[in-house]
Amino acid sequence: MEMTFEPIWGKTERPIVIAGPCSAETEEQVMETARGLADQKVDLFRAGIWKPRTRPGSFEGVGAPGLAWLKRVKEETGLKVTTEVAKGEHVFEALKHGIDVLWLGARTTVNPFSVQEIADALRGMDIPVLIKNPINPDLKLWIGAIERIYDAGIRKIGVIHRGFSFAGETKYRNIPRWQIPIELKRQFPNLEIICDNSHICGRRDLLQDVAQQSMDLNFDGIMTEVHPRPDEAWSDAAQQITPGRFRELTSHLVRRTPTSNDMEFLANLHHLRGEIDELDNEVLNLLGQRMKIADKIGEYKKHNGISILQAARWSEILDQAVAKGAAKGLSEDFVSQLLRAVHQESINHQEAVMNSKEINA
Ligand code: PEP
Ligand code: MN
Repeated sequence: MEMTFEPIWGKTERPIVIAGPCSAETEEQVMETARGLADQKVDLFRAGIWKPRTRPGSFEGVGAPGLAWLKRVKEETGLKVTTEVAKGEHVFEALKHGIDVLWLGARTTVNPFSVQEIADALRGMDIPVLIKNPINPDLKLWIGAIERIYDAGIRKIGVIHRGFSFAGETKYRNIPRWQIPIELKRQFPNLEIICDNSHICGRRDLLQDVAQQSMDLNFDGIMTEVHPRPDEAWSDAAQQITPGRFRELTSHLVRRTPTSNDMEFLANLHHLRGEIDELDNEVLNLLGQRMKIADKIGEYKKHNGISILQAARWSEILDQAVAKGAAKGLSEDFVSQLLRAVHQESINHQEAVMNSKEINA
């Protein structure tokens, strides 16, 4: 679907900065956080009013009364405010209290019923909406949510990358999988994109690096959870930082420009990119040749009644490649993902040969 978005922030300066507590807990805590941020470069004050929690029984948000606190933040500090909406009813309440921007959480984006309910409540309204990625790494689901909100007539739409749920070992709370937001931006270049480093990291010590990474990938801004006493926070204590620490974080962010007019720089970059293109081409040629050999092996196995997968052989290939890759400065994660993809393609080729199928069928 063809979509033309309007910018949410009228300014061209980057980054756009969104900060505030994970949850509004008390009026004092909200006001104290807002005062700590009011003299910083903050474009939008965030606070969760209705909190979706993984399991029942923990703090689930203060609900509608907290909206009056956000109104007070606006009146006393001049900061614009945003909160998460997960139902049509939340949209009505938020609009009634003059909330400036709404956001859809990861647990909402994942569910088209909820997204549609919110879209229906938004029809005819004029309010910017930020859409977080779904919990699972499904770009179509993310785009689907954007389309539903767009269909309701909202044009000021932005997205928030908050990482993806992952069952394996990782230092992140939600792994970034940067390729997914990068692909979204490739398809919709005028969509403003914010990095929620707090929910990606889940811990304070990684926040700076992830925020910087997002700047280096030309994200438009960051959303970070800030609390006056993080350790005492009623939700997401491990990832929140004080207003003072937040000031340091933003002051250390380096914003590099996406392009330059310097002819020498452009010429060098063009040359290096040419080299990359050639190498990519070479890699594809080699992979094509590799698959032709897989086809031959498939034929051979077929004639001899041998199954496709020999587990021991596969383990050996993987181990050797990881070791060789490490010697060339390639991470284990990258080499194993690459090899798995190559191996799967080989299996598909052999399957096709053995069962006389089309490879792309
Ligand atoms: C939040 O922003 O506090 C939140 C609940 O985030 P997410 O929807 O990304 O889990
Ligand atoms: Mn949170």
